Amino acid sequence: MSKDEFISVGKKLINWSAHYLENIESFPVLPNVKPGEIKNKLPQSPPESAEDFESIISDLDKIILPGITHWQHPNFMAYFASTASGPGILADLISSTFNSNGMIWKTSPSLTELEQTVLIWYRKILGFPENFKGLVYDTASVSSLHAIAAARENLNLGIREKGMSSIPKLRLYCSEHAHSSIDKACLTLGLGLDGIKKIPVNENFEMITEELEKAIQEDKSNGIIPMCVVATIGTTSTTSVDPVDKISEICQRENIWLHVDAAYAGVTSMLPEMKKYFSGIENADSIVSNPHKWLFVPIDFSVLFIRKHEVLKKAFSLVPEYLKTNEDSEVENYMDYGIQLGRRFRALKLWFVIRYFGVEGLRERIREHIKIAHQFAEWIDKSESFERLAPTPFSTVCFRYKPKHIKDENILNQINEELINEINNTGKLFLSHTKLNGKFTIRLVVSGIRQEERHVKEAFKLIDGISKQINY
Ligand code: PLP
Repeated sequence: MSKDEFISVGKKLINWSAHYLENIESFPVLPNVKPGEIKNKLPQSPPESAEDFESIISDLDKIILPGITHWQHPNFMAYFASTASGPGILADLISSTFNSNGMIWKTSPSLTELEQTVLIWYRKILGFPENFKGLVYDTASVSSLHAIAAARENLNLGIREKGMSSIPKLRLYCSEHAHSSIDKACLTLGLGLDGIKKIPVNENFEMITEELEKAIQEDKSNGIIPMCVVATIGTTSTTSVDPVDKISEICQRENIWLHVDAAYAGVTSMLPEMKKYFSGIENADSIVSNPHKWLFVPIDFSVLFIRKHEVLKKAFSLVPEYLKTNEDSEVENYMDYGIQLGRRFRALKLWFVIRYFGVEGLRERIREHIKIAHQFAEWIDKSESFERLAPTPFSTVCFRYKPKHIKDENILNQINEELINEINNTGKLFLSHTKLNGKFTIRLVVSGIRQEERHVKEAFKLIDGISKQINY
């Protein structure tokens, strides 16, 4: 592509993106397409000869756009609504322009040294202790996988050399509300699903530490080695907070690795008024927090903070001849800290975002989201027709429609399932669900950069209006 063509198409695409974002509210949040519909519109064989960009952009509009679920839409209030800000999007452009691969320091010193620096900034923003080293991975699932691999290596059982066959059974403990990525990490690391013990939760969906203690003692008496406890600050279904301080006391006493999954809620540690949820975090061995979830950094960007980073390095470092350099003794080579060799220049995104908004700007936006979500929770609490099903520590509200005269739980589940389907079918709002104690639960999340109070007000009006039209 010539420079002139690059500039001309580049301008068109920047305009395209700006226009898309400016008009984001004109799109239905969820696309109205059937499975296979997009694929059927695409040629099943690649073009033999070159195509001009006009026709690529035209297909972007005609084929791809109609099948997009608009995560950037302020009425996307499902899952953990994740949005990309302007500076983050532009940083991705520069990252692809450099196309640097940061597998080792030499393959892009700026990539390594900016990542080191920006993760020190991020640690300082969150107020985490100095002895935590930050590392960037793509997702929280992969960050947690590496943390749990470090926990396994920390046992010093020679697994790296001999594998798992000659060692006693290992156990990881997490609450029954921990994210499924923890189960997947155990599958990947050879612990199997049987290597996890799910600890029951209390009425607020927080891990019961007495049950954790009991499980650990029982395992020890059966010759099973307690390897790791995963506590969650901001569980996926309800955003409940496990008692990290109490859990950390148990872990310290029993010499067990403590990993804290704060993939969604970790960013709130930048707010003094939210510090209460992070009590004991200084005693964790590792913590994951995802700037791509609630810090307006385009997906993907997850940060693992780890104290014994040398243990992680011991688990993964393997230096073939062709990757040795003269600087190895003085520098950090990121390939040493995980399964991947190649590494995108992700740090640019966080660097651009932090500098563009400033820490105060980020704090203000997150504080506003929490405020708006709490307003929504208040409307739910005041309404005679709705019921909140979990506390709202952050910006996620769990609720259901509950007309006074209906007591049957099965009917309530059916009504709420129908309600969320009707809401999502309007294209005006996208909500997701979970089940809590058998109750179909609707979740509304406020964490997108374009979300304002008016969106949540409209959402409540829509939910309330549709609930009145449900026949039962
Ligand atoms: N941990 C928690 C608490 C989550 O809520 C999620 C996803 O929502 C994850 C981990 C997995 O995140 P990722 O998609 O970055 O792997």
